[in-house]
Amino acid sequence: MAQLEKAAKIMDLDKNIHDVLRTPDRILTVSIPVKMDSGETKVFTGYRSQFNDSLGPYKGGIRYHWDVTLDEVKALSFWMMVKCATVNIPMGGGKGGIIVNPKELSEGELERLSRGYVQKIWRYIGSDKDVPAPDVYTTPQIMGWMRDEYEKLVGHEDPGVITGKTIEDGGSEARSYSTAQGGVYCTIELAKKMNLKPEETTVAIQGYGNAGSYMAKILHKLGYKIVAVSDSKGGVYKEDGLDPERVDELKKAGGMLGCYCLGGVCSIEEMPNEGPCRHVTNEQLLELPVDILVPAALENQITVHNADKIQAKTIVELANGPTTPQADEILKDKGITIVPDVLANAGGVTVSYFEWDQNVKGEHWTEEDVLQKLEKIMVDSFNEVWDTKEKYKIDMRTAAFVKAIERVANKINL
Ligand code: NAD
Repeated sequence: MAQLEKAAKIMDLDKNIHDVLRTPDRILTVSIPVKMDSGETKVFTGYRSQFNDSLGPYKGGIRYHWDVTLDEVKALSFWMMVKCATVNIPMGGGKGGIIVNPKELSEGELERLSRGYVQKIWRYIGSDKDVPAPDVYTTPQIMGWMRDEYEKLVGHEDPGVITGKTIEDGGSEARSYSTAQGGVYCTIELAKKMNLKPEETTVAIQGYGNAGSYMAKILHKLGYKIVAVSDSKGGVYKEDGLDPERVDELKKAGGMLGCYCLGGVCSIEEMPNEGPCRHVTNEQLLELPVDILVPAALENQITVHNADKIQAKTIVELANGPTTPQADEILKDKGITIVPDVLANAGGVTVSYFEWDQNVKGEHWTEEDVLQKLEKIMVDSFNEVWDTKEKYKIDMRTAAFVKAIERVANKINL
C-alpha cells in the first residue's frame, strides 16, 4: 500500500480509483476436508485473492505453505496485478494459498487436497475468469490434478484454466527458465544504459535455485563474469569468474559450492577465507564490489542493516521483495540503480500468459517463438519503465508502479 501511495502521488491518481485499488475485488476463504491415509478427516484452510481484473483474467500462483496468511495472499495478489501491468500483458492480479506443510502429506493426500481446493473455488476460476499457476511448493503435477478436477466439474475441456502444466498436459516451452531469461533481457538493457560491456561486467548471484542458476548460466554464455554464487549453505567468490556448469556438476555430486575453485573434493571448511578465490557467506556475497548484484533467493535480504554496505553498481531483483522499503531509500541515496522485482522477474508470468494464450487458441509455440515474444515484451517494458523514471526523476521501482497503475486505472470505469 505504501508503494501504491508513492506512485499515486506522482501520477496524481484519481481518489476514487485509488480507493478501488486499495482492496481486492474478491477474497475466498475455504475449508477443505481431506481424507487422510489414516482414515481420519483433516480440515485445511485455503485462500484465493482476486485483486483486480481490469486488464484480463486474474493471474497468480497457489502456494502450499504452513505460514500462508490471508494478508500475505492479498499482498501477493496486488503485486501480481502490478507485475502483469508493468509488462503490459492482458492479465489481472490474483494469488492463492493453502495452510499446509506439503512435505508431511503422502502423494494421495496431496492430490485429494488439491482436488478439494478446486471443488471449493471452481465457480470463480476458468480461462476467462481466473488462471492460477504454481508457486511455493506447488508443482506441474499439482496443476495437472487441478485442471482435471476443474474440467470434471464444468464438464468440458479448459486447458487454459491453469498454467505451469507439464508440456504433455498443455504447458509452454521455455517456462522452466523463463524467469531467469526475462531477468537476462533486463540485464542486457541495463548494461546498455550503464555502458557496461559483458566481458568486463562482474555479477554476484544470491540463490542458486531455479531462477538464480539459469540466470548464471545464460549470463555466463553471453560473456558476463559470474564471480560469486551462493545457496542456503553459503557461497563462493572467484575474482576471475566461475563456470556455472561446473558449479552445477559439483552441486549434483553432493559437493559444496566451495569445491569449485580448488577443483577437487574439498569441504567448505577447507576453503580459504581470503584471496581471489574464497568462501563467502550469503551476507558477504551481498556486499561484494561487483557491477551487478542479483538477489535470487528470499525476500528481505537487503535491509537497513546492510544497505549501507552494498557496493554493487546495480541490482537486478530476480527474487520477490528482496529489498525492504527503508533499504530502497538508502540504495537510492547511494546512487545504485535497481531493476525492481515486478519487472526483473516478470518473465515467469509472461510465459505463463503465453501458455494460457496457446491453450485458448489451441496452439503450441516453438521455444524460439516463445523466446522471441518474451524478449520483445521484456525489452519494451524495461525501456518504458526507464523512460518513466527519467520523465519523473524517480527510481525504477516507483516508475514501474506508475506505469502499471496508469494502465490499470485507464481500464477502470466508475
Ligand atoms: P528455488 O527454491 O528454486 O531456489 C531458491 C535458492 O535460494 C536455492 O538455491 C536455496 O538454496 C537458496 N537459498 C535459500 N535460502 C537462502 C539464503 N538464506 N541465502 C541464500 N540463498 C538461499 O526458488 P526459485 O524458484 O529460484 O525462486 C527464487 C526467488 O525468485 C523467490 O523469491 C521467488 O519468489 C522468485 N521468483 C521465482 C520465479 C520462478 O519462476 N521460479 C518467478 C518469479 C519470482
